[in-house]
Amino acid sequence: MTTAPSTGTRWLARAEALDADDPLAPLRTEFLLDAAPDVVSYLDGNSLGRPLRATAERMADFVGSQWAGRLIRGWTDGWMRWPEVVGDELGRVVLGAAPGQTVVADSTTVLFYKLVRAAVDAAADGRDEIVCDTDNFPTDRYVLEGIAAERGLTVRWIDTDPASGVTVEQVRASVGPRTALATFSHVAYRSGHLADAAGITAVVHDAGGLVLWDLSHSVGSVDLELDAWGVDLAVGCTYKYLCGGPGSPAFGYLAARHQGRLRQPVQGWMGHAEPMVMGPGYAPAAGARSLVSGTPPILAMVPLRCGLEVIDRAGMAAVRAKSVQLTELTLELADAWLAPLGVDVVSPRDARRRGGHVTLRRDDFREVTDLLWQRGVVPDYRQPGGIRIGPAPLSTSFRELHDGLAVLRDVLLDRPRP
Ligand SMILES: *Cc1c(COP(=O)(O)O)cnc(C)c1O
Repeated sequence: MTTAPSTGTRWLARAEALDADDPLAPLRTEFLLDAAPDVVSYLDGNSLGRPLRATAERMADFVGSQWAGRLIRGWTDGWMRWPEVVGDELGRVVLGAAPGQTVVADSTTVLFYKLVRAAVDAAADGRDEIVCDTDNFPTDRYVLEGIAAERGLTVRWIDTDPASGVTVEQVRASVGPRTALATFSHVAYRSGHLADAAGITAVVHDAGGLVLWDLSHSVGSVDLELDAWGVDLAVGCTYKYLCGGPGSPAFGYLAARHQGRLRQPVQGWMGHAEPMVMGPGYAPAAGARSLVSGTPPILAMVPLRCGLEVIDRAGMAAVRAKSVQLTELTLELADAWLAPLGVDVVSPRDARRRGGHVTLRRDDFREVTDLLWQRGVVPDYRQPGGIRIGPAPLSTSFRELHDGLAVLRDVLLDRPRP
């Protein structure tokens, strides 16, 4: 089956009209796009955001004037407080969190470990279960298995449909008097399913447990209201939609009402109440600073600050609105061009239950991903048979999305159906 030229032109016109109406379109020029002239369409903003021009400048300036210029004095000048300062910015711009509850530190995996341990160690006797779903991100599942073995706890697994995600009803049926903690990804890394965070948090609280949300695939892509939802704990990545760069540090959120009561286990000097006293015995710092363990990754926070600045200017509501339009266009093109070629959509069709990416499935998509990369179209592949289309609202145009999916269609037209 081939696509009639008239249909092709119609979709191109639609993509261009969406770009013309896009209030965020000017921000795209702030990204370093010309550094990758071979890239026709970058569709993996959900895995690694593109760098801003300002990031390249700010990094060079930081090395020259801050690091080289201030040397060790930089720590007393302000670097020491960056975990909380940048954490508060994150809280304000993208998390819906009042100041004093968020820090930047470690990797998501390590912060997840620290926060899960803090939660389960504070649980009342008899609360010996952690509730999670089978399609949660691998690192979360592996860390939970390790903690369960370490602390004699049980993980109660909710079986989720890999094409959607965990529901309020499933959580209600799984929590109870033995629940210490329930933890899920807000947006499922595979399907892009957007969980009802407020509803699930309320159900876990009714059962007397705490909730930890992994926001890695939602932060900077969907609206978050951690304080309003009554979330207890949260972690997330900054190298995805926040454009912090490869391996940029994670953030952790500890609600004010739990501070001083929940204690994370990696008692390092940088989370001490008085790190420079270097005295005997550990005393945790007040507030979210207690989540910090070692020396903060200052250099690696510079790009994140640039990413937050551009999202702040755009406004999260506008970012989410464009993200929904991008995934809607993905679904329309998938239905028009790809469904006739045997491609399934394995993501929610209801925008209210969908995050920032859409997963398409065909049995030969592993090989197809290689062919796309050779042609400058860069999504990523996830088992089983899934290509994730993750357009970043700040740096992806509708035209770019259109062009990438057109190449996917052309590649499939040249191949036998598996
Ligand atoms: C990307 C991602 C991670 C990554 O954790 P790292 O420690 O940065 O490797 C963790 N959880 C989720 C849900 C993710 O999407």
